[in-house]
Amino acid sequence: MDLSALRAAVSGSIIAAADEGWDAARASHAGSGSPEAIVRVSSVDDVSEAVRFAVRQDRAVVVRGGGHSAWSTLADGVMIDLAGLADVEVVGAATRPVVRIGGGAVWGEVARALAPHALGLSSGDTASVGVGGLTLGGGIGWMVRAWGLAADQLVGAQLVTSSGAVVEVSETEHPELLWALRGGGGNFGVVTRFDFAAHPLPGVAYAELDVEGDARPVLRALRTLLSDAPRDLTVTYMDVPSMDPSAPAGKTITACWAGPDADALRAALSPVLGLDEVREARLSVCAYPDILLEQPAADPDQPLPGFIGGNSLIADLDDAVIDGLAAFRESNDASVLFLRSLGGAYADVAPAATPFPARDATWFVMAGAFDIPGLVDDDDRVRISADWDAIEARGAGVYGNFTTTTDPTFVGRMYSAEAMARLSSIKLRWDPQNVFSRNHNVVPF
Ligand SMILES: Cc1cc2nc3c(=O)[nH]c(=O)nc-3n(C[C@H](O)[C@H](O)[C@H](O)COP(=O)(O)OP(=O)(O)OC[C@H]3O[C@@H](n4cnc5c(N)ncnc54)[C@H](O)[C@@H]3O)c2cc1C
Repeated sequence: MDLSALRAAVSGSIIAAADEGWDAARASHAGSGSPEAIVRVSSVDDVSEAVRFAVRQDRAVVVRGGGHSAWSTLADGVMIDLAGLADVEVVGAATRPVVRIGGGAVWGEVARALAPHALGLSSGDTASVGVGGLTLGGGIGWMVRAWGLAADQLVGAQLVTSSGAVVEVSETEHPELLWALRGGGGNFGVVTRFDFAAHPLPGVAYAELDVEGDARPVLRALRTLLSDAPRDLTVTYMDVPSMDPSAPAGKTITACWAGPDADALRAALSPVLGLDEVREARLSVCAYPDILLEQPAADPDQPLPGFIGGNSLIADLDDAVIDGLAAFRESNDASVLFLRSLGGAYADVAPAATPFPARDATWFVMAGAFDIPGLVDDDDRVRISADWDAIEARGAGVYGNFTTTTDPTFVGRMYSAEAMARLSSIKLRWDPQNVFSRNHNVVPF
């Protein structure tokens, strides 16, 4: 592919396989891809030029925000690396602050930029995850019960469309695009700027509790507690094996209060603090950026094992689901279990107001066993898949961001039929040639 016209047209840099720095440029958090060229954009015009160039050359457009999904680990295409567009700016009245964020920013940068303003946004839990991919897919984090999904706070955007045009999106300008961007993925263009309604956040209270013994009574107690808890409280239950280097082994409850009020957090957690299974508590008040995790990037020489399992948005975390989750973890040594409370502001949003599914879900659940050769055989795979399928069948939907699959059929499980039909018709209007297809792809029709 002749890159000379593109090199002349953009102010950012272009890297191809023969260039110095190629391996570093194509490595993302999720692993290394093999695009034909990487455009490190430094302006919105660069994005337009890169999209037009890729279309003229009949190449796939690969958009990289924070680089945590599997989409940028594939082959071919022109990758638009948005890391150079990462400004964070607070605008609007002090009573209704809006934060404008470049399309390539990551959540750790955003949290650090907002902390001096005593402001916060509902994001994810990990500092290096991109604002782009997380928001466009929904975004479940520590503030999900207080303020909803990351996407729920989106009030506007600047978008480079499949023709290379730059459009402003808001409640009054192309509102159908705003609806689609609140969970419909990267299907509609390259978001070069996200506008979010921000919230006052002078700090958070954060607790970590160690759990020993049977998970079942603990999960039941959490279910009861969260059914009536203040929405400032969001809770996670996690059970990981010692093989996972990114988190301590064992069962933990972590809890965040959307404000620096340790007493309120302790009071809200008191029913679980009294359980025999809860051994130890660490409770602190800190700045929101301090609770975001730093996760190591994937080592390209040590591919991660496969994952047999999935995620589910559960409306009714009844005893059968709890028993199924506990048994899943117990019957697979190398497996993980993760539950995050929903409800609160997440449930305030009307089902049709965004494409995101299952607003009646009270818990987000993820479980999976690592497919380690020698440890897992074919019979195990069949059994583990069936066990997970039985749990997922009890759910009200799946969350596309929490999967590493690039299977094109997966998107069909992510949305209601109504949302999928609406997304498809918006796609037809704005991207009829499916230029933006390296995502959970909504086909235009
Ligand atoms: C370690 C880790 C922790 C995570 N923690 C959370 C969490 O707490 N909560 C949660 O909800 N999810 C979490 N996720 C899932 C995460 O939301 C998805 O992996 C998401 O796709 C990552 O976005 P990204 O921008 O980093 O990835 P990318 O791979 O850069 O992008 C993902 C998709 O979004 C598109 N895209 C990205 N930016 C733009 C843009 N500006 N305009 C148009 N399209 C764009 C890409 O083309 C691609 O299709 C986590 C993932 C990992 C690996």
